[in-house]
Amino acid sequence: MSIADNLLKYKKELTAEQVELIAVSKYQDTDAILEAYEAGQRIFGENIVQEMVDKQAKLPQDIQWHLIGHLQSNKVKYIAPFITMIQSVDSLKLLVEINKQAAKHKRVIDCLLQIYIADEDTKFGLGFDEAIELLRSEEFATLKNVRITGLMGIASNNATEKQTNDEFTELKVLFDGIKLSFFRKEDSFKEISMGMSGDYKLAIEAGSTMVRIGSSIFGKRIIKHYKAE
Ligand SMILES: *Cc1c(COP(=O)(O)O)cnc(C)c1O
Repeated sequence: MSIADNLLKYKKELTAEQVELIAVSKYQDTDAILEAYEAGQRIFGENIVQEMVDKQAKLPQDIQWHLIGHLQSNKVKYIAPFITMIQSVDSLKLLVEINKQAAKHKRVIDCLLQIYIADEDTKFGLGFDEAIELLRSEEFATLKNVRITGLMGIASNNATEKQTNDEFTELKVLFDGIKLSFFRKEDSFKEISMGMSGDYKLAIEAGSTMVRIGSSIFGKRIIKHYKAE
């Protein structure tokens, strides 16, 4: 199946579930992204700043770019002019820098707090307590150029279905608690970004509102010269 065929299949399934599709185009060239764009996709996810910046300059300007990988504070300035959503906020320090760069461009940047749900040491993210501490902090309350619209999580690799389901359910329970405690009156706090090619069905059952799907739309990743952080 072509990229366009894969995309349309996902679109149909996800529209029925009212779940947003983030097409993860990391390591794909601009032709592959254009094929998805021409099939109607507008939201693309990348995990490396330099790769996103290079592609953003070359591709249609109505693409909505989501950063889904670890972000270093010193790189926020490169994406602040155009980024639609930063899904991988994992510290207050980073959020403060996003706020500062967004203010320079007179923007309010939507962000998700990345929550650590996997049973592995290698993944970035805030612990449950850290997320709550961040939201309670006085400094957070002063940030006017960022808007927290939900949570993001990545389940463990190679886990059993039960474990994956448990991890997604934990994120959903945390989301519900944070919604009640901090964002009860804010309709914009509504996103739970969870689910990738291998586990998106479980994620949707557990309450995902946004899935991030790469390899099963685009196939093998082909660009290799960008370095992850
Ligand atoms: C690469 C990546 C995805 C997409 O993974 P696939 O298995 O290719 O669908 C989703 N989320 C994050 C954070 C990623 O880095």
